[in-house]
Amino acid sequence: MKKLWIEPGCITCGMCEFIAPKVFEVTDISHIKQNADVQENMTEIEQAVIECPVSVIKFQESCDLESSEE
Ligand code: SF4
Repeated sequence: MKKLWIEPGCITCGMCEFIAPKVFEVTDISHIKQNADVQENMTEIEQAVIECPVSVIKFQESCDLESSEE
């Protein structure tokens, strides 16, 4: 499982939506779309993380120690 979230501080520059329109939607702040497929859009998400001018897009491989199905 991968975890993606946006921390407070977005300046609504629109860059993440430009890079990964299937994942991010910028309105009053940037949101992650409800039906966003993180796995499918990994390349774009990683690019958005790099390009975000205030570095508020956070991404993590979640370490679920209780299940090791992968
Ligand atoms: S790139 Fe960063 S600052 Fe710009 S809209 Fe997306 S989350 Fe907000």
